[in-house]
Amino acid sequence: MQGRRLANGGRPLHATAKTLVIPPVSHLVYHIPVAQLARYRGHRLIVRSANPPQLVGQLGADDLDNLAYIQLCSLPSDTDDLIHWAEALAIELRLDEPARDFPLLYRYAKLLDNHPVRVVLPVVTGFEKAVKLALSLQFAVRLEIGQPERALIEPLAQTLDDYLHRSTVSQPIEYFHSLLLGLCHREPVSLWAIQEEDPALVRYVDEQGQEWLPGRLDGIDPGSEPMGFVERWGDGLLAEGAECAHCPHFDCCRGYFKWPRRDYDCDGVRRLFQTLEQAADELRGDLAAGPPAPGVKLQ
Ligand code: SF4
Repeated sequence: MQGRRLANGGRPLHATAKTLVIPPVSHLVYHIPVAQLARYRGHRLIVRSANPPQLVGQLGADDLDNLAYIQLCSLPSDTDDLIHWAEALAIELRLDEPARDFPLLYRYAKLLDNHPVRVVLPVVTGFEKAVKLALSLQFAVRLEIGQPERALIEPLAQTLDDYLHRSTVSQPIEYFHSLLLGLCHREPVSLWAIQEEDPALVRYVDEQGQEWLPGRLDGIDPGSEPMGFVERWGDGLLAEGAECAHCPHFDCCRGYFKWPRRDYDCDGVRRLFQTLEQAADELRGDLAAGPPAPGVKLQ
C-alpha cells in the first residue's frame, strides 16, 4: 500500500511525540464540565471548559491521572495558561462551525509545543477546509460524521484518500484511523466506541450535573438501560431485515448510520467502508511481506 503505513519517507505512522492517538474508549468515561469536577473525582474523565485558566486552576495533579483528555468547548479561548501546564496531556479543540471558524486554528498551534492536540468537528458543508488546515498544523482530527448528506460523501472520500495516501498527512483522522487499524489487525472494532457514542462507555454530564447519553443519543432517557443500547439497536435492525442485515460492514458499524433516521441511505458511507477495508487488506499484505523499517510501528 502506497502512503499510509510508511508515509513521509518511511517515518513511523503515528510515533511522533506530538501525535494524539486516543484509543477508542474501553471503560466508562464521564464527559463533564469542569464545574462538576468535585462530584466526579475518582472516575475516568473528559473535562471540558471554554475557560483555560479555570481548567488550570481546578485540575490538580491527582486529577490528571484520571483524565482521558481535556476539551476546549468553545473557540476562541486564550490558551496561554495551557501551554506549559500538564505537559503531554491531550487537548481537544471543538470547532462547531468548521467552514466559518477554521482560520481560528492558527491561534492554537503553539499548544503543540507541549501537548498533542485534536480538533473535533461536525461533517457539514465546508468541513474539509478545516480538516486540511488542522492536518497541516499537525493537529489530529475527529469527524462527527452522523448521517452525512449525499453531497458530503465526495469530500469525505477525498479526506479519506488524503489520510490514506497523502504523504504530508501524518496525523490520525478518526474514525478512519481506528477502523483501519482494527480491520488491518482483524481485531473487533466498534464505530460507536470510536466515535465516543456508545452509552456503555461514555456519559455526558451537563452544567447542572444531569447525566445524558453521549453524542446523537442525548435525547434518550439515560435510565433506559444504556449498557446494552448498541447491541439492542443492532439486533433490532437485523431482526427487521433492514439494510444492515445484508451489510458486510455490520460487525464494526452495528447500525451506527441508521441512527436516528432508519431510512438513511448508506450507499455513500458503505463506499468509505469499502475503501478502508481495501486499504486494511493492502496494509496487512505489506506487513506480511516484511517487517517494518526500524523504529516503525503501527499503533
Ligand atoms: S453501513 Fe449502514 S447498512 Fe451497513 S451496518 Fe452500517 S448502518 Fe447498517
